[in-house]
Formats: sequence, structure tokens, C-alpha cells
Amino acid sequence: MRLRNVKGAREYIAQNEYIIKNAEEHKGNWQDYFGDGKPIQIEIGMGKGKFLMEMARLHPDIHYIGIEKFSSVLVRALEKMEMEPLDNIHFLRMDAEYISQYFEKGEVEQIYLNFSDPWPKEKHTKRRLTSRQFLSRYNSILQDYGKIIFKTDNRGLFDFSLEEAKEAGWTVDLYTYDLHHSEYLEGNVMTEYEEKFVAQGNSICEMVIHH
Ligand code: SAM
Repeated sequence: MRLRNVKGAREYIAQNEYIIKNAEEHKGNWQDYFGDGKPIQIEIGMGKGKFLMEMARLHPDIHYIGIEKFSSVLVRALEKMEMEPLDNIHFLRMDAEYISQYFEKGEVEQIYLNFSDPWPKEKHTKRRLTSRQFLSRYNSILQDYGKIIFKTDNRGLFDFSLEEAKEAGWTVDLYTYDLHHSEYLEGNVMTEYEEKFVAQGNSICEMVIHH
């Protein structure tokens, strides 16, 4: 199935089994919703879901929730799920700006931000998914010592993100400007954008932070 127009995509999403319905109602009750005691990790801006699907295959004892703003992108992930079903992967179509309406403090173990849009203009700083405004939202849902793992090939966005994290009181557990030639590469799962950028010869930056 190929759904390119958003109207068709929205209808497809509404009835898809991998989409969590009425997700706001589960705020504070996610453990009851899943009912198996497994921790919850999320990827924000997961695009077509390649990274999340591989993570879900590798770690069946974790529930992964992929969050994506655009229906037209999300349907691509759902189409892939039809080919290879997994029961520990779930999706939410939403703008991450509203994430604290969906999870209570402590409900999320880890957050992945992969190749987030850079929003290079100064006036759009607050839209960057690693701005202090977004970091504060993440802190309101993460468990104590819960981590954010951020990868990008955009050096400007990366330096901004490191500064924002420090300014907002986060601890930087590790960072590298060249993940693929570093000691942190082991266990790395490549995202769709990462594959593209690595093929172009770009260095990949990664940081891991906790509050
Ligand atoms: N993470 C994927 C990867 O590494 O291959 C996709 C990266 S793509 C550059 C960024 C994705 O984040 C897009 O699919 C975009 O729609 C999504 N996105 C951007 N801002 C968002 C927001 N505020 N909430 C949810 N998703 C968002």
C-alpha cells in the first residue's frame, strides 16, 4: 500500500493497530496499559521508523514508542510494520511540543533524538528539539537519571544542544564529534538519515545526557 496524500494517510493511521489510540488518557497509567512491566523508551521525530524497528527487534524487553508529527511520514513506518510485525513497538502521531500531556514524570526510561531538524534561524531556536524548552518537557516525563541520546551530523545544532543541556542543568555523560570512529560505536543502530550522511562522508556527532 502506498499512501502519499495526507487525507488517506490520516484514515489509515486512525485504524492502524500500531497506533496508540486516545494516548492522552494513558498519562500516568502507561504501565497498566502495557501490563507487562517492561520499560518504555521513545524516539521523537522517528521518520519512517527504521531505527526504532531495529531497536525493537534487538530489545524485545523494552516497549518502544515512535513519535512523529507528520501522517505522510508515519504511514511509511506503518507499512513496514505490515511486512514484519513486532509487539513491542507503538506509534503516536503528535507534535513533541505536547509530550508532557501524554506522559507523567518517571514513565519514560530513555529518549532518542535522531537527526532532528536543525531550524537554523535564530528566531526558530525554540523549535529545535534540543532547545531548553524541549529539554524541560523531556525532564517532565523521564525517570530519575533517564537519558536523552542525541545524534546529528549538524555541528551547529550539536554545539547548540550541548550548550543548552549544560545551561539547563543536565549532566553530559558522553559526547563525540565522530561517533563512527569512536569508542562509542559498538551497539550503535543506524537511522535512515545516518546511513545517508555516513555514505556522504559526514561525521556523526552523539551526546548522552541525564538530569
Ligand atoms: N529520526 C529519523 C532519522 O534519523 O532517520 C528522521 C529524521 S528527519 C530529519 C526528522 C523527523 O522529525 C521528521 O520526520 C519530522 O517530521 C519529525 N519532527 C520534526 N519536528 C517534530 C516534532 N516537533 N514532533 C514530532 N516529530 C517531529
